Amino acid sequence: MDSPFSSSSASFGRPPRPAITFGALLALSLVFPAAVLIGTIYHFIGKYLDLIVIFPMLAGLCVGGVLASLAKKQKVHSKPALVTLAILAGTVCLCSRWIADSLQTREEFITSYSAKLAGGNPAIEAKAQSLLRRTYTPLRFLPMYLKVAAKEGATITSTHDVGGSSHNSPITGTAFWGLALFDALLMCGAAAAIAAKQASAPFCASCDSWHGGELTVSRLDPSHADEAAKLAQARDFAGLGGLRGGKATEKANCDVLLSKCPGCQTGQVTVRRHVGNAIKTLWSGQVSPTETAKLQEVRAQWLQ
Ligand SMILES: [Zn+2]
Repeated sequence: MDSPFSSSSASFGRPPRPAITFGALLALSLVFPAAVLIGTIYHFIGKYLDLIVIFPMLAGLCVGGVLASLAKKQKVHSKPALVTLAILAGTVCLCSRWIADSLQTREEFITSYSAKLAGGNPAIEAKAQSLLRRTYTPLRFLPMYLKVAAKEGATITSTHDVGGSSHNSPITGTAFWGLALFDALLMCGAAAAIAAKQASAPFCASCDSWHGGELTVSRLDPSHADEAAKLAQARDFAGLGGLRGGKATEKANCDVLLSKCPGCQTGQVTVRRHVGNAIKTLWSGQVSPTETAKLQEVRAQWLQ
């Protein structure tokens, strides 16, 4: 009798690793304590200096960096999973900052208010403190803190006020929440961008391994970009190697890039044009181990 658990199709060799496994997901969830830590560090720095756009983005980049390094180690290459985790971790980071801000304000409020009530009597002060602590639990204090913070407003520092006198008026009410949303978008966006980049890094499923770093096969004048993309697509790598002339610079070039699996030598070729701040991938595709070897010859010729 056939067991319902036995597979009817024979499998040859090792099945490829799924884009994400449950075990890997557990390992990736380490990004959440890291996000809490980054949010707490942001709280301490933010007390002295809070740079608009830059700080939320930096925090997001740190969260994304932690997630990407975990994903690399766990060989997770599912873009939807990594982007979702990045957005969640970015949100956790921002909330941790607010919670830390609220806890500190609560502490200041309890200390100063109990001192005021006690009027110098230490016994009454201790009693007042414990009463206030019980009344204003951290959970109850948080919405009050946020309400007051929105009313009082946030004072932001822009890069050109650092060190100078800041005379910005605080941002209050709806604008405060708009700014909070903007911070959240920057933080989650930066984290998601790093995570998405890791997810789309070339991965060899049959060897269960990430490709090695990108090698420059050749650097061409940007005017050769379309021709280079056509030749690469047609797999005319000798023709691609024959493209010369013009002048490529750091700011204006067309790079032919190769990354390869350290196991089977299967490669991925990318033709990328770079003019000023505009970077465009014109073509990207897989190449066989033989083609990888050919491209490495082209690279050797170009390096001469
Ligand atoms: Zn391989």
